[in-house]
Amino acid sequence: MKTFVYACPDSFDHHPPVGHPEHAGRLRAVLDAAQAWGGEVVPWRAHAPRAALERVHRVDHVDRVFTAAPPAGEISLDADTWMSPGSLDAALAAAGAGIAAVDAVLDGEAEAAFVAARPPGHHAEPDRAMGFCLFNTVAIAAMHGLEARGLSSAAVVDIDVHHGNGSQAFAETEPRLTFASIHQGWIYPGTGAAHETGAHGNIINLPMAAGTRGEEWLDAIKTVILPRLEQAKPDILLVSAGFDAHEADPLAGLGLNERDYAAAGALLANAAQKWSGSRLVCVLEGGYDCPALERSVRAFLGALSKA
Ligand SMILES: [Zn+2]
Repeated sequence: MKTFVYACPDSFDHHPPVGHPEHAGRLRAVLDAAQAWGGEVVPWRAHAPRAALERVHRVDHVDRVFTAAPPAGEISLDADTWMSPGSLDAALAAAGAGIAAVDAVLDGEAEAAFVAARPPGHHAEPDRAMGFCLFNTVAIAAMHGLEARGLSSAAVVDIDVHHGNGSQAFAETEPRLTFASIHQGWIYPGTGAAHETGAHGNIINLPMAAGTRGEEWLDAIKTVILPRLEQAKPDILLVSAGFDAHEADPLAGLGLNERDYAAAGALLANAAQKWSGSRLVCVLEGGYDCPALERSVRAFLGALSKA
């Protein structure tokens, strides 16, 4: 698939306190991976408009994030989630890149796009920041497709090791959006049990036991998530691309390696080709061991462009 990487330089100006696992070095690792991959990298700075944020988030949450950033130092919005002077621009550019990526695949400029930006987004709920996340970039991108571009359906597959509680909370109110998450069960944020399917039946949760290795993880995607995508045939496939299920990751306990991320990239790219008109948008979420993150993103991008 013809693949673009959207690279957001403002992401380097979001600074949780020193020692926080979600730091600017992560983006350096991802951009190094993109350079090694060798495909087209698009620098991106334009912000998502407020109207795009408000398709997903309540106005009072958007107001809070717009006004919370301190003039210096950092401030916490919850136990894990911080803002520094550059955080608002970083989050707005990340959401803007998600929107641009959707436009690129809908306009046929690319078939796949990967948004290399931080902070991540999938824990941000409609009414609150949470788990390192300020705005839910992938949900904002999906809603741009549905509301601004006239698509009738979208799907988000969340492969981050943590459950995408924010995306799920939004999908519970949006039946046009299929949300499927594979994650380590019974760790942060504590949601994502298999019985959580949503009032509209559009939510799929696959909690995996600690120590699960790539073969079993990939098999769960093939046997549970892909058939649901085949059934839904979403007009666009989005991926919350977290790489913290890697065996080297310090925040969780699954046992994947970069070859498994290449295999996941191939499965998702093929799903987008078969059922979503070759429209695939992937958004960076977690991944906290920088060397493993770099190798995993490199492998994932390689699989997309080879598909
Ligand atoms: Zn994560």
